[in-house]
Amino acid sequence: MPHTPSSVPEFTKWPSFPFEGDIRVKQIEDPVEVEPSRKGEGSADCVACAAPDEAYIWVSDRWRVRAMDQPSGLPMVLILESRSHLDLGDLPNLLAAELGVMTVRLERAIRSLDGVARVHVNRWGDGSAHLHMWFLARPYGRLQLRGTFLSLWDAILPPIPEMQWRENLALVAAWLAEFGGRPLAEPPHIQWQAPSSFAAAGDSAGDDTTRGTRPADGDTGGSAPGGSEASGTSIAAPAEPISSVAALEEPDDEAAAGGNPVATDTDSAPTKA
Ligand SMILES: [Zn+2]
Repeated sequence: MPHTPSSVPEFTKWPSFPFEGDIRVKQIEDPVEVEPSRKGEGSADCVACAAPDEAYIWVSDRWRVRAMDQPSGLPMVLILESRSHLDLGDLPNLLAAELGVMTVRLERAIRSLDGVARVHVNRWGDGSAHLHMWFLARPYGRLQLRGTFLSLWDAILPPIPEMQWRENLALVAAWLAEFGGRPLAEPPHIQWQAPSSFAAAGDSAGDDTTRGTRPADGDTGGSAPGGSEASGTSIAAPAEPISSVAALEEPDDEAAAGGNPVATDTDSAPTKA
């Protein structure tokens, strides 16, 4: 019989909790007998396996690192994937050991970016079967973003400027390539265009608005009208558009399962640390 908790938990009062006002807990559904398959379960129709290297910012023989398809609220959100179709618990010792090295390396690379205070590392795995580790950069000084709700804030905050985002991607890719592999994200090319070429550049300017990117917000240096300077990188669109942690980690049957992957991560209590 469904049970409805009478009061909201203490974390709704934490400064890091992104919502306020009247909140009530959803009805807790009965567990299902058999869980549905995740995306790419058994390597069938696996988005990660089907994605070309060009959809990533850095690749090596056994690992690949990808970004969202557009800037989000946090300074950097990256996903580390094994090249082989494996889940975390399936990794052979070699890959398991390398995962540790890659995790530390990527954390360091992202933490070296301007304005990044901390890098959260998460693995949920409820959405897609192919191993994917999340790296979420928490902006320096934003104490309200500390802790487990960071992935929610990523979708709430206004997107960071695209120019800055692409510069950051290129820096991380270059950092990783210092140790091997191949960087695929290039820094944005500043197009020092003559005024007569602005019209041509403007033709492609519709992209930014259709993708919901804010127009040239805070961008500096060489901005052509419509922000088309940001189109100068080599990052290909991923096989499946990914815009936020919440969107990608949400299981297909989220509504039916009633699960919230974020809520299962209880590894820190920001106000009680
Ligand atoms: Zn796969």
